[in-house]
Amino acid sequence: MGSSIHLQLKDVLSDYGVRNLHGQPGSKFHQAIDYSVYGIEDEGYAIVAVKGGTVSDINGNRAYKGITVGNYRYTHIFKSSVPKDGEFEKSGKFILKQVEKVNGKDTYWSIIDLEHCRAFCEESGRTVEINGFCGNSISTVNWVEEGWDIAPIGGSGGFPTHLHLERSSSGKKHDPNQNVQHISQDFGIELTTKDNANITIKYPGTYRNAIRLRATMKGGIPVGSDRFSNVTMNLDKADILLQRDGSNDYEHIVGYEGSDKTKIESKLWLGANYNTSITPSDWDDRPYGSWTQTGTYPYAHSSPDKIYDDYFFSDFYTRIDKTDFKKLTDLPTNARYNDRKYILKPTITNVRDVLYTVAGFNITFDNFKPYLSRITVNANGGTLYEVERSGNEGEVATLDDGRVSNNIWDYPLRNPTWPSLQQLNIIAVRPNPCNLWKPHIELKDQHNHFQTIET
Ligand SMILES: [Zn+2]
Repeated sequence: MGSSIHLQLKDVLSDYGVRNLHGQPGSKFHQAIDYSVYGIEDEGYAIVAVKGGTVSDINGNRAYKGITVGNYRYTHIFKSSVPKDGEFEKSGKFILKQVEKVNGKDTYWSIIDLEHCRAFCEESGRTVEINGFCGNSISTVNWVEEGWDIAPIGGSGGFPTHLHLERSSSGKKHDPNQNVQHISQDFGIELTTKDNANITIKYPGTYRNAIRLRATMKGGIPVGSDRFSNVTMNLDKADILLQRDGSNDYEHIVGYEGSDKTKIESKLWLGANYNTSITPSDWDDRPYGSWTQTGTYPYAHSSPDKIYDDYFFSDFYTRIDKTDFKKLTDLPTNARYNDRKYILKPTITNVRDVLYTVAGFNITFDNFKPYLSRITVNANGGTLYEVERSGNEGEVATLDDGRVSNNIWDYPLRNPTWPSLQQLNIIAVRPNPCNLWKPHIELKDQHNHFQTIET
């Protein structure tokens, strides 16, 4: 009889979330944890229930077999073959057999633990005939306690022998690690732009910038080429947040991707925790993340000695319009990210809602050529001069900058009251709400004497 397997971190073959299949069959977005014991043939070894609960959905009549206990489903149990009518399949200390039929057409199946003489079935009180074992007949129970052996590890469904463990809630799948006992570990976070140790924004702002968040399992000790003895990638969310100068709030960066300019944000959520919505919703079809593709590249449990996953936000256009995310602008007043100082802050959150972060990175956006939008000259209680210079979006060219409708720079002041001038006020309004530049104003009198006004 095969003994029980208490699955450990070193037995994690594939974690929850996006995974690298390396050409193998399976879902790219793996909403489960795969376990197999490294280096031994674990077919027939007993899976131990991670939680107690009601038994449902033992599907013995299919190639791909599983058992659900409470919110957990354990699959690839037994083999792909289906026992013939009245016969059973045996694996390790377990038997898979249909319970006795009622009116000749019952389809319930039972998994019997011969060591403890327990028969699990969706219905309690049904009889299973097992000649030679457990007194030749056993009555079923539809519940399991935490720690009980429930089924043999197998390879049903045509996969190599392993346990695929799912956790469901309200019809959605989440990371079993929300409840499965595992070591709480620390993460390291790096935020970089391509070819740089620091964050560098490339211009013009019509250029697509990419930012990479790397989440490293600190102190991870590799076992073999793709496993770790002491850590597991249990992340739920990766966020790259932007804080505007003078604000306490953080926001996700908005961008667009693809030829149809679909909105995408710097918000990469896996739905590991049952409170988290999967974002973007197309993880299973989404290409792996790269400097040209928003998404994740899952190295952990995939590449030798790489104990991190990379999360890319690769659709950052700093000139994106503030209301229409499908548009770029050449006016600072229309920009979602106007020229000013910002802080970029990466955060990751694990399946148990533990947040990890580092100090933010200071960056300054400098996209637009500044201009004065209104100039007013007041003296002696009257307005001597006033000019409005309205923004002209024009054509957003790659190298364009903020334009104004009347590109004048000399403002002659001629007024008969000039000799009695007591006070002169010059008010200039600029569209940039920041201190990246200051207007420089010069006054010239009739004798060509200059006076400079610093603002
Ligand atoms: Zn799996």
